[in-house]
Amino acid sequence: MKAESVLVLIKPDGMQKAIAGEVISQFLNSDLKLTGMKLVQVSLKLAQSHYGHLRGKFFFKEIVSYLMGDLHGKNPVVAMVFTGTDAVAKARRMAGATNPEEADPRSVRGKFGRVTTKGVFENLVHVSSDITEARREIALWFKKEETI
Ligand code: UDP
Ligand code: MG
Repeated sequence: MKAESVLVLIKPDGMQKAIAGEVISQFLNSDLKLTGMKLVQVSLKLAQSHYGHLRGKFFFKEIVSYLMGDLHGKNPVVAMVFTGTDAVAKARRMAGATNPEEADPRSVRGKFGRVTTKGVFENLVHVSSDITEARREIALWFKKEETI
């Protein structure tokens, strides 16, 4: 089976809740290899292009603010690339379902996520949805020489 890569972000709520260490540790303990990592203060432009495919959704403005840290003390994001067989599926399993209330209680989102009164899923991590999205997102967040 061919190795694939996936973008994993610890979003600003994860930084504010001080769980980055636990998330990174859990991902490093899988059989995926860390192939890129950096801290990013997310700009409006980056947030809007990251979520570009969700532009029509009612929650678009809210998740752009969320990714920029506006809802969580202007905290930055830890951006990582993990590589290995079935990396997307494995990383999404560790993250848990999008809605923290539906996520496996042992997953990152199940353990630490919440749904706000406005209905936004504050789910701590982003993981690319599929290989095509992963390729686009890795190119958006990382220069070629920043990954190994
Ligand atoms: N989101 C939300 N409400 C929804 C769907 C999505 O607040 O009904 C937020 C949530 O933070 C999610 C992000 O928008 O992580 C991107 O949505 P997507 O459907 O891509 O979910 P993901 O791939 O992150 O699981
Ligand atoms: Mg997605």
